[in-house]
Amino acid sequence: MGLPVPERHGGLGLDTLTTARVMEALGRGCVDTGLVFSAGAHLFACVMPILEAGDDRQKTQYLPRLCSGEWVGANAISEPEAGSDVFALKTRAVRDGDSYVLDGGKSYVTNGPDADVFLVYAVTHPTSGYLGLSAFLIEKKTPGLSVGRPFEKMGLSTSPIAPIYLEGCRVPASAMLGAEGQGAPLFKRSMQWERACLFAAYVGVMERVLEQTVDFARQRKQFKRAIGKNQAISHRLADMKLRLESSRLLLYRACWLMDRGQEASMEVSLAKLAISEAAVQCGLDTLQIHGGMGYVTETGIERVLRDAIPSTIFSGTSEIQRDIIASNLGL
Ligand SMILES: Cc1cc2nc3c(=O)[nH]c(=O)nc-3n(C[C@H](O)[C@H](O)[C@H](O)COP(=O)(O)OP(=O)(O)OC[C@H]3O[C@@H](n4cnc5c(N)ncnc54)[C@H](O)[C@@H]3O)c2cc1C
Repeated sequence: MGLPVPERHGGLGLDTLTTARVMEALGRGCVDTGLVFSAGAHLFACVMPILEAGDDRQKTQYLPRLCSGEWVGANAISEPEAGSDVFALKTRAVRDGDSYVLDGGKSYVTNGPDADVFLVYAVTHPTSGYLGLSAFLIEKKTPGLSVGRPFEKMGLSTSPIAPIYLEGCRVPASAMLGAEGQGAPLFKRSMQWERACLFAAYVGVMERVLEQTVDFARQRKQFKRAIGKNQAISHRLADMKLRLESSRLLLYRACWLMDRGQEASMEVSLAKLAISEAAVQCGLDTLQIHGGMGYVTETGIERVLRDAIPSTIFSGTSEIQRDIIASNLGL
């Protein structure tokens, strides 16, 4: 739960690339992708911002418990009117003496039903645009914070998600994470972590699924020969391998740049886009190759597709990743 967090704060002190490799191994070894996704959201969108922007008290108070898994963290930024256009959020945090009072609502909060601490983004200076947002650490029992009814989803069913509501939610000024007005850059940095390291888990998933599908194509016989002897099947598997390896290389390059402190926003978006779209195609391919066995739920094969589809939506949709890449190309 604290892979890249220094050991003095309860983590393992791994670099970005090694963190991604561990997430990849988790995705490969754990068929419960919802669990891996929840752990990734906790680590990359809540723990890492605390590590990168927290003061000594916040690090001491939260990091050991979050890294050990004793506490669960969540990240709350999306709102009904601020999804892809996330910095158009409306939740307000108004200074009142030594406190801030927050009012608003967040639409999709992964881990929301189980979280002990929420990283909530709110507007502190309405006229300052990008620099008008600030981040707050709000504990679950804080009066004025409530968690709504969890959503049912088509996939990632073990990862709970719910809206949260803030109604006159008063927190001490010391609950602010980072400086006032620094919420947007902090969120962008957390998305860089998430788009790289959380998505590494899907690389592991694709590797596991490819191996299983190759085995099946070698064993399943129709017309008196293995279905994998048909080029229509073997080429589909070759394309799965191509997408797996090319998205993995994009991921490793993005992590390598992050480890060197170099600008990596385009490389991270390239990796996120390639991995998520490859994961969806991997789900479609394995289902098709397994035929009826792939479609019935008891084999668990269709689950790969259901768990992959949301990866093209969360952490910024595929369309938004293409926008980031295009803007890096000067468009
Ligand atoms: C499983 C899951 C977990 C999530 N967890 C969290 C969480 O923990 N915390 C959190 O804050 N949020 C979370 N989210 C929310 C997620 O970040 C948003 O769903 C996502 O950013 C898209 O926002 P939206 O759903 O409002 O879609 P919209 O922004 O309304 O987009 C709808 C469609 O329009 C497209 N679109 C929008 N703008 C453009 C444009 N300019 N150009 C081209 N196409 C465009 C989008 O790509 C999409 O296809 C989660 C979502 C999912 C599915």
